[in-house]
Amino acid sequence: MLHRRIVALRRSPRFGDDAAVDLTITLLGPPGSGKGTQATRLRDDLGFAHLATGDLLRAARKEGSELGRRAAEYMDRGDLVPDELIVALMREAIAREDGPVLLDGFPRTTAQADALAGVLDDHDREMSAAVLIDVPDDVVVERISGRSQGRSDDNPETVRERLRVYHRETEPLVGYYDERGLLRRVDGRGDPDEVYAQVRRSASAEG
Ligand code: AMP
Repeated sequence: MLHRRIVALRRSPRFGDDAAVDLTITLLGPPGSGKGTQATRLRDDLGFAHLATGDLLRAARKEGSELGRRAAEYMDRGDLVPDELIVALMREAIAREDGPVLLDGFPRTTAQADALAGVLDDHDREMSAAVLIDVPDDVVVERISGRSQGRSDDNPETVRERLRVYHRETEPLVGYYDERGLLRRVDGRGDPDEVYAQVRRSASAEG
């Protein structure tokens, strides 16, 4: 049953033979687990639309939109932006897509996961797999302190807060998707190419 859901790699003129036509995948993992890097590769490789809540929020801040202004204070503290803002943002973003979708950084709470299931249902979609990129806290802290993207939420104190928030709010999604038979675990500590090989298998029919 599960495999039938995941086996949606189909021939498609739009995406080529290896396309993941109606897959809906989410990447789970702590800050610094490499979700963004892996998501970009999946997008380029399998034709997923990459919907990253963090990127959408940072863009909203740059534009100075109402959403951006409301999100800024939460982001700078390392807190989660309220569910209703995020769900509204993603409801719109998902509505614009008709091919394979890769969610990155969403859902981050079980309330968001429940809301997402409803949004997907409205669009005749279902979650195909939740891929957990598993990285221990000490590796996260080490990685992020070496990352120099100048993000306003990459200082050590905020990183520790983001990790606490991850464990409290987002990690329960591991059980949530496991219970639904959708969880795929990937060891995120290794070389990015090796991690990618596992992610690709998990996010496609090979999984
Ligand atoms: P990211 O780039 O995914 O690490 O996200 C950066 C920040 O954006 C997070 O620390 C949160 O403040 C906010 N954010 C991103 N995605 C979500 C989400 N699904 N729910 C709530 N806040 C989010």
